[in-house]
Amino acid sequence: MCPAPADAEARRAVAPVICYPVETLPVPDLALYARALAAAEVVDKVVAAPREACAFRVPAGGFFRIRCTEGPQVGDLNLWNAADLSERFYSGKTRALHGSHLGVGDRMWSGFPTLRPMATLVQDSLDWYGIDAFGGAVHDVIGTRCDPYTHHLLSGQAYHHCCHSNLTRALAEATGQSRAAAEGYVQDVLNVFMCTGFTRDTGQYFMKASPVRPGDTLTFFAEIDLLGALSACPGGDCSSEHSSDAATCYPLEVEILAASADLLAGWAPPPVNGYDRSHG
Ligand SMILES: [Zn+2]
Repeated sequence: MCPAPADAEARRAVAPVICYPVETLPVPDLALYARALAAAEVVDKVVAAPREACAFRVPAGGFFRIRCTEGPQVGDLNLWNAADLSERFYSGKTRALHGSHLGVGDRMWSGFPTLRPMATLVQDSLDWYGIDAFGGAVHDVIGTRCDPYTHHLLSGQAYHHCCHSNLTRALAEATGQSRAAAEGYVQDVLNVFMCTGFTRDTGQYFMKASPVRPGDTLTFFAEIDLLGALSACPGGDCSSEHSSDAATCYPLEVEILAASADLLAGWAPPPVNGYDRSHG
């Protein structure tokens, strides 16, 4: 280890600066969304079977609600612009803007060059959880998704029901593409209901048993026409391991809700990012 400089403590004592002050971000009108949600009606429902994924479509101005129905289960969520799969959820920038875990009022942002809100989180029955003594919290945008490549790297084994593969199959089926073509559109996820953090001593990504229970829900407003896919992770509640059939797994339900246009007066789908793309 290199010797510490004489001013090491002074350097460590420098206060951090928030990378992206969000005071100038467009503020979602949560009261408007709440009024629309209160009167919204369920128009469709799909179920992600244990260790499988389901796909769903939500028109702009609608809602989708993810529900834990039978037992503690985490889900891996992907979103695309329903008309253009190249516009997809950007987990890394969402994390940079809103922090490591999402809460009510946070957005799921698309990547470059559109960089706009795809969905707004409007309801979370686990909002009481906060940050626990281990530094854990729910709904992270730090994990990537369990995948067969990392699993093979670490174990030499092939496992076909990682979230990456589940999402690939669901997207292929929803769009009529081959699995090979669909795989390229699968992205880093929002880890719905998953409880995660980083260990303070080694900085390693950790997971722990999710606090989610049957009846818990997480609800989003669709800012643009969305195609979504949700995988019921093979890790179940992620209390021990994933990338295997060892954990007890349960289904997850996705309800699609239609809202009255009258109650959304004043709302419009967000435009694509205003940067001119000239790059100087
Ligand atoms: Zn997973």
